[in-house]
Amino acid sequence: MPIFGKLSERIDQSIRNHRLKAYIKTLSEVRRLDYSGYSDADLLRQSLELRERANAGETTQELLVPAFALVAEVSERKLGLVPFDTQLLAGAALADRKLAEMQTGEGKTLAAVFAVYLHALCGQGVHVFTFNDYLAERDARWMSPVYAALGLTVSSVQADMSPESRRTAYSADVTYVTAKEAGFDYLRDGLARKPEDLLHRALHFVLVDEADSILIDEARVPLVIAGEKPAEANPSARMAAIAAQLEADADYDTDEFKRNVFLTDEGAQKAERLLGIESLYASEHLAELTGLNCALHAKVLLVRDVDYIVREGRAEQVDSATGRVAENRRWPDGLQAAVEAKEGLEPQTRGQVLGTIPLQHYLSLYPSMAGMTGTALTSADEFKETYSLDVVVIPPHRSNIREDMPPLIYTHPDSKRNAIVQKVLDIHRSGRPVLLGTASVEESEQLAVRLEEAAVPCRVLNARNDKEEAGIIARAGELGAVTVSTNMAGRGVDILLGGGREVEYAQVKALGGLYVIGTHLHESLRIDNQLRGRAGRQGDPGTTQFMVSLEDDLLVRYGLKDELPDNMTGLRQAEPVNTPALERKLTHIQRVANGHQFEARKNLNSYSDTLEEQRRIFRKEREDVLFDRVISSPLSVFDPACYERLLSILGEDTLRKIEKIAALHYMDKVWTDHLDYMNYLKESVHLSSISNRNPLDEFNVNLIRSFTDLPGRVEDQTVQYLQRLRPTSAFDPERDGPKQSTSTWTYAVNDLFLLTRRSIFD
Ligand code: ADP
Repeated sequence: MPIFGKLSERIDQSIRNHRLKAYIKTLSEVRRLDYSGYSDADLLRQSLELRERANAGETTQELLVPAFALVAEVSERKLGLVPFDTQLLAGAALADRKLAEMQTGEGKTLAAVFAVYLHALCGQGVHVFTFNDYLAERDARWMSPVYAALGLTVSSVQADMSPESRRTAYSADVTYVTAKEAGFDYLRDGLARKPEDLLHRALHFVLVDEADSILIDEARVPLVIAGEKPAEANPSARMAAIAAQLEADADYDTDEFKRNVFLTDEGAQKAERLLGIESLYASEHLAELTGLNCALHAKVLLVRDVDYIVREGRAEQVDSATGRVAENRRWPDGLQAAVEAKEGLEPQTRGQVLGTIPLQHYLSLYPSMAGMTGTALTSADEFKETYSLDVVVIPPHRSNIREDMPPLIYTHPDSKRNAIVQKVLDIHRSGRPVLLGTASVEESEQLAVRLEEAAVPCRVLNARNDKEEAGIIARAGELGAVTVSTNMAGRGVDILLGGGREVEYAQVKALGGLYVIGTHLHESLRIDNQLRGRAGRQGDPGTTQFMVSLEDDLLVRYGLKDELPDNMTGLRQAEPVNTPALERKLTHIQRVANGHQFEARKNLNSYSDTLEEQRRIFRKEREDVLFDRVISSPLSVFDPACYERLLSILGEDTLRKIEKIAALHYMDKVWTDHLDYMNYLKESVHLSSISNRNPLDEFNVNLIRSFTDLPGRVEDQTVQYLQRLRPTSAFDPERDGPKQSTSTWTYAVNDLFLLTRRSIFD
């Protein structure tokens, strides 16, 4: 690392320490304030007084000390938990809108309540983003006695809730909800026809749990709300059949990162023959070219049981960061259909996109934000640059004595696998529990078979049997347990030594605690650290050991092999080949990969920034109409005669109502068309690089041109609708006016591939 790199790291470190000192000072002030002599009723009165002060405009800073002291007292009384100093420190950092790094098992759920309570005092509603629906419900229920004792209401949102229940949930002082559900509700609000149909209140403060996952890994995921769309021909099956006949190397090639696949000249000619067309690259065959690209991508780059599993007739994506099935996530339309065709599955309905927003942009709508996670520091730069969030590292309540061994490096996969099996065998013999973290569903199953053959009984946890997660995790810390998992056993999973039984706990502790083995390094060090974090919980002993091979994907991609001294190239041996230089190189590769990902994400943003700006402008205009802030009547301007005719039949109120409904309806319609156009641009624009134009410029110029036309199109369509109207005096605008999609559904899109592909051209 260059000297300045080290220096700036040290400066960052001292800034962080400085911040922590300020929170330690706050902590001692909170500890001095003693509410133990107060009755429950007195505590409630104190809290209501704080509410009044908040409403009168006192800042959170001014209210922090009494607010924290109240929460601490109530936590002890109602939950039986005396908050640790470290929880108060984390609370102070969160209240200060920071990103608190706090290890698993340190009690983040309670720590959050301090900041949440403080920011909820003003009554504007605080959201806590949880990792999944289950945790939203659990955390809200678990913490509700604290909020209730202090006079605040708390609620949670679940995916299957009705609009009424959602509205009620968001009207509470504190709402526990996943980022996705909150974002979907924001999209639903974008289609509201009446102010009273809105689900959200104005956004105020959000505290994001597992913040690195939401703010970095998931941030790019566009949330989508869609409505029905007329069925259209699906050419995917034909394209899949053609892709199946193309051969690697001769007909297509992949780039060094295996993120992109290209047709060779021979491949293109073969495809043209099979399709019976002259030139695949002629503009009238854009649809075929796009379709074939998708089919090839599905065939070559998306691997069953690694990138997705097939279950109940559907292709379900596996998220590489969490190892879980990414629920309700699709690839962009063409690719989704291509994967379904490749697997011979029934195509899933495709909807017309009515609204979309990437999570990152949704998050930026909150005026203030804080976050917490076990792994933040390694991505501190990205948090700062993308969200202006500073990381504060909260020391653990009991110091961490876990032993992290340097990775063992093997020459090739076979020797690595043998060594892993041998290692599990050795540790298992002592009765010490082992958690084996693998890279994919496929690998987890292969290793489980090898272990069974070696007479080591094990339990497998992966996306395929995610329903059994709780049971498997509950037993993963027992004497003699061997658990083979994907990254699923990473985030948010709390493995108790001895399965929670005291005697067994002591036995497992004496053996050295949980032994975590990782079979690969992830592109993101954070994800590896999540796995490491399963061991050494709350001061327990534990060991972690990664075991890699020079032929692992990540290491091949980043050229570890090129760094090998001559006598090691092509070497195949059973023993590890660790040298200090190789170990340093491994660390370096992960840092480079991390930077690479950050750059790719920034690059992706440049494609969504323009649309996001347009979305905000358009949404503001729509809200102005919805709330009657502007009363526009294009009809009275463009066709006064028609206006007078309708006025005489309907009267002023009804005419205004139908003008408003029509305006909202056609705003939604032209926006939907605009999104369709944007998708078309996205899918086709990278082809423009063939003609040496910059695809990003091309994309933006076209998008801006289309956006400029929108107001005119809304006016035209609204006027035309009203001109066609032949109402009677019984006309009811809500009943007889333009209809909305009767059913909508929501999903998230994994569109990373589209844009990483483009990044190669940029
Ligand atoms: P995290 O989300 O940081 O992994 P949790 O909030 O799930 O941690 O808490 C982990 C465990 O610690 C829970 O079983 C909880 O009851 C316990 N815990 C939290 N705070 C305290 C406390 N102040 N005293 C004792 N136990 C606590």
